[in-house]
Amino acid sequence: MYQVPTQSLTMDEKLIFEKSKPGKEGCSLPREGMVSSGLESGIPPSLKRTAPPVLPEVSEPEIVRHFTNLSRCNMGVDTNFYPLGSCTMKYNPRVNETIAQLSGFRDIHPLQPADTTQGMLKLLYELERHLSLICGMERFTLQPAAGAHGELCGMMLVRAYHKKHGNGKRKKVIVPDSSHGTNPASAALFGFEVVVVPSNERGRVDRGTLDRVLNDETACLMMTNPNTLGLFEDEIVPIAKLTHERGGLLYYDGANLNACLGKVRPGDMGFDIVHLNLHKTFSTPHGGGGPGSGPVGVSKEIVRFLPSPLIAFNKGCYTLEDSSPDSIGRLKLFHGNIGVLVRAYAYIRSMGSAGLAQASEDAVLSANYLRNKISKAYDVPYNDFCMHEFVASAARQNLKGVHAGDIAKRLIDYGFHPPTVYFPLIVKEALMIEPTETEPKETLERFIEAMLAIAKEAEENPDIVKKAPHTTVVGRCDEVLAAREPTLCYQAPK
Ligand SMILES: *Cc1c(COP(=O)(O)O)cnc(C)c1O
Repeated sequence: MYQVPTQSLTMDEKLIFEKSKPGKEGCSLPREGMVSSGLESGIPPSLKRTAPPVLPEVSEPEIVRHFTNLSRCNMGVDTNFYPLGSCTMKYNPRVNETIAQLSGFRDIHPLQPADTTQGMLKLLYELERHLSLICGMERFTLQPAAGAHGELCGMMLVRAYHKKHGNGKRKKVIVPDSSHGTNPASAALFGFEVVVVPSNERGRVDRGTLDRVLNDETACLMMTNPNTLGLFEDEIVPIAKLTHERGGLLYYDGANLNACLGKVRPGDMGFDIVHLNLHKTFSTPHGGGGPGSGPVGVSKEIVRFLPSPLIAFNKGCYTLEDSSPDSIGRLKLFHGNIGVLVRAYAYIRSMGSAGLAQASEDAVLSANYLRNKISKAYDVPYNDFCMHEFVASAARQNLKGVHAGDIAKRLIDYGFHPPTVYFPLIVKEALMIEPTETEPKETLERFIEAMLAIAKEAEENPDIVKKAPHTTVVGRCDEVLAAREPTLCYQAPK
């Protein structure tokens, strides 16, 4: 049986502020010759400090050890397998980082005149062309800062489109019951009424139901393909046709594009508006809240509504072009999260079209391999050939009082980041597993062994699973308290 490593992580309990001793220094600046920048004279008196800031005073080795030890209490793609379903936690190639740090990219300012930033503008222009080709869309805006921000942009485009066509009474957005929470949230946030349609017994959007709910009040149908069960919506072409016949638009949540690169394009499936999550599919680092990037691509009919500015290429020169008077305006300062865009560009160019297609093939192969092996001990409710991820269930383990969340915690003891749990909502005790293409077979085998071992533990010794993790510095947190009363910065003891 798989042996759980016995050595636990330990951590110096003290916070860096508590290690502070007046007079200690972590860096040595020259005492003499420090020149005032003169900038402080421009600060309004009301914004000036009246007392020096309270900062910890520690030596350099203390601060290095503090942060290094903290980082070792965490899991990331650089330390552990990270099969967090729907999040595409693939390895982030280091070449992307090297390129993003070239001074020509790193040290420029967005307010510089365009004739001094031609290289960056060219990169953005080409990135837009590549994304358009990969997705079969006419143009992209690179402004949105995340998938959810892209969805909001999409909803603004939907409304602008219908308004322009005199269909202001189209107020309903249809989402499947398997959809990611951000889909209905984005639609509702922008004032649309959300209509949820149930999935059929094959885990796909039900065409019959759609036929009943699609009408002249429908603004848009939002879909993810493959959907969040990891299943390809194989009726997408007739669904798109039906939606268009009824005057609605089709929105593509591109979070699962990692299953499709070089294989099938949302534009060819009939989608009008598409968001991508560059931090997922295009390998830029994510987790911990950002930064991300959620470019939005559109078909020809919707280009005129895109956020402004777009990047144009005229007479050998890249320029920022204010788009049409129908534009929904600006969505984000400057050009979006530009460091993320540079990394995604580097990824696309280093992979090439054959490499991207290979990535999707390998992602799908890995997911099916895991699904096949793990389904020996766990229920897989929609056990069909999957795309880049699949959803298992802890329903069988639940009979012994073990929940999906317990299995997730126990996986940490075995050295794996947990999968996504309790999503999608339509699977009871969901364990959503996405291995991505960047893991060697040996890692997949170790993960399978761990999953099977935990199933056995749930059967024979459920307490060890229910009380997991046993090897971490912090075990289970009070998640409600953490959400209601978060402590986000150091508070000195009174
Ligand atoms: C991640 C995800 C989103 C939201 O994207 P963010 O970049 O996290 O805002 C939307 N839909 C699906 C299916 C996702 O997996």
